Amino acid sequence: MTFASLGLIEPLLRAIDTLGYQTPSPVQAQAIPAVLAGRDLLAAAQTGTGKTAGFALPLLQRLMMEGAQVESNSVRALVLVPTRELAEQVHESFRQYGQHLPLRTYAVYGGVSINPQMMKLRKGVDLLVATPGRLLDLFRQNALKFGQLQALVLDEADRMLDLGFAEELRAIYAALPKQRQTLLFSATFSEAIRLLAGQMLNEPLSIEVSPRNVAASSVKQWLIPVDKKRKAELFLHLLRERRWGQVLVFAKTRNGVDQLSELLQAEGIVADGIHGDRPQATRQRALDRFKAREVQVLVATDVAARGLDIDDLPLVVNFDLPIVAEDYVHRIGRTGRAGAKGQAVSLVCADEVQLLAAIEVLTRQTLQRIDEQDFEPDHRVPQTDASGQVLKKPKKPKKPKTTGSKAALGRWVESEAPAQPQVKAVRKVPSFNTGPRKKKP
Ligand code: AMP
Repeated sequence: MTFASLGLIEPLLRAIDTLGYQTPSPVQAQAIPAVLAGRDLLAAAQTGTGKTAGFALPLLQRLMMEGAQVESNSVRALVLVPTRELAEQVHESFRQYGQHLPLRTYAVYGGVSINPQMMKLRKGVDLLVATPGRLLDLFRQNALKFGQLQALVLDEADRMLDLGFAEELRAIYAALPKQRQTLLFSATFSEAIRLLAGQMLNEPLSIEVSPRNVAASSVKQWLIPVDKKRKAELFLHLLRERRWGQVLVFAKTRNGVDQLSELLQAEGIVADGIHGDRPQATRQRALDRFKAREVQVLVATDVAARGLDIDDLPLVVNFDLPIVAEDYVHRIGRTGRAGAKGQAVSLVCADEVQLLAAIEVLTRQTLQRIDEQDFEPDHRVPQTDASGQVLKKPKKPKKPKTTGSKAALGRWVESEAPAQPQVKAVRKVPSFNTGPRKKKP
């Protein structure tokens, strides 16, 4: 199959060619013709599957071929994303795919001054990528009108709900014209997502790309048992002894990010950190420097776990295991992208055994344990396996904070994995409610 056979126009094919894409990924093969035909979409697809091009290419084409010229303060297509970093990244994809088309695209998000965004919107934009909170601010300040809106994309919808954007989504939904095309992408399908889909989509085509088999994927995963208080020491030791190059490190808390990056800097390592408390400009600069390989170690909370596309990243380290098992899959998805080989190492202490068990159940694998000499823990990490059983409880077991649920992930460069549950039929319901707002990571 070729991109041309999917019905894409020449300026888009030229852009794809420049980017070196040869064959459409499965999600693209299914989504592109459906979106071109004007259908709504409910897609179980993850970052790394090529989903961005799956919606961006046909949307750009529709914007080119249909609809009137955009009016001032108007927008013709809207892409909602959960984080500022993802907004920048998705917008960059639109810019690349649309480089030969005379369309105006733009991205808006919080954490930066709203005034330049209001100025930019005055002329109107054909396609706007936005985080929900800032979009609503702009709408409420009359900087945006939705009368011309023809298409809406909810990208990483599960993440938007996890981050507590349900209220904002509801308010945005109420402001949009009822006649429009809607595309919803989500890695997981909770009840809340189904309710959202039921309200927003009209007879959608359901797409599920073959789930990603993290066990047999191009990412080699293992864990090193270690005492909690020696994690930083172990990380430094590994970095030096194994001559690690660039590493993306995930820590649980903002404090943890700051402490580790400061410690690394004090040891003469070029390290930086990103988390939700840092101003947007600082976060973006850290990410840009990491992508440009000016920073060796980037320490991040899960705000960086999703969506970020960093070329050739060889190694991801879980300094702390994530509280939500699915985040493990997103974290390690930052490496081994587009067929490249990657490694994911987790430094696991006894307290984290229940989190480990949840990850193993979710990924249907028992992570290989490799002891590091001189770092064997005093507090043993009980044996776990993919059945979810912790074979011997630690002396003082902590209450599990969460258990894993099923993620439907996919990537076209990898082999088929056992099928995940199908996306259930979408129910029509009057409203959606996702409970209390959680703190952003
Ligand atoms: P996404 O899942 O949209 O974040 O895309 C993941 C990565 O795959 C990005 O670096 C894209 O540039 C790349 N990509 C998307 N579609 C293709 C394709 N058909 N062939 C090769 N690479 C692709």
